[in-house]
Amino acid sequence: MYGAGIARGLKVTFSYLFRKPFTIQYPEEQRPIPVNARTNLLWFEERCTGCSTCAQACPDGCILVETSPREDGSLNIDRYEIDFRLCMYCGLCVEACPYEAIQAGGPVDDATYDFNELYRDKDKLTAMSQTFLEWHDFTYPNGKPAPKQDEYPLHTGKPVERDRTR
Ligand code: SF4
Ligand code: SF4
Repeated sequence: MYGAGIARGLKVTFSYLFRKPFTIQYPEEQRPIPVNARTNLLWFEERCTGCSTCAQACPDGCILVETSPREDGSLNIDRYEIDFRLCMYCGLCVEACPYEAIQAGGPVDDATYDFNELYRDKDKLTAMSQTFLEWHDFTYPNGKPAPKQDEYPLHTGKPVERDRTR
């Protein structure tokens, strides 16, 4: 019946009048983002061995890894850079990394006025990942616990123990 349809529609409309709005005043207010949201790319230096598997997996060639050998046979990471101007966020580097050193997650508000700011070196990538860890109680995007910076220095010239399960 025509009138009953209108009544049903108005019932739904009026039920929303008395609910708390879903909208927020962005950017002053921000919604909490789940730790495992696949929003961006984060690189964790303390997990990275410098193996370059991620760079080989990237179809856009936007990851640069430069290493030098240490005395114990491990690699010192001299440069690690991601060109987000080219990145299509396909996640192939994340899947390829055997050490979960690059993971999907991080800031959603990553727009910039200067396109070149999207080229990020080791320090900028580390600042991004540290901010993420501080906001998420030192939990990696994959849900595993991360060491705090004072327990496990990020900028270290010494070889550190790494494994796939930590
Ligand atoms: S997400 Fe895709 S395009 Fe971006 S760095 Fe990783 S492999 Fe390359
Ligand atoms: S991020 Fe992963 S794949 Fe890339 S160099 Fe580091 S350990 Fe290797």
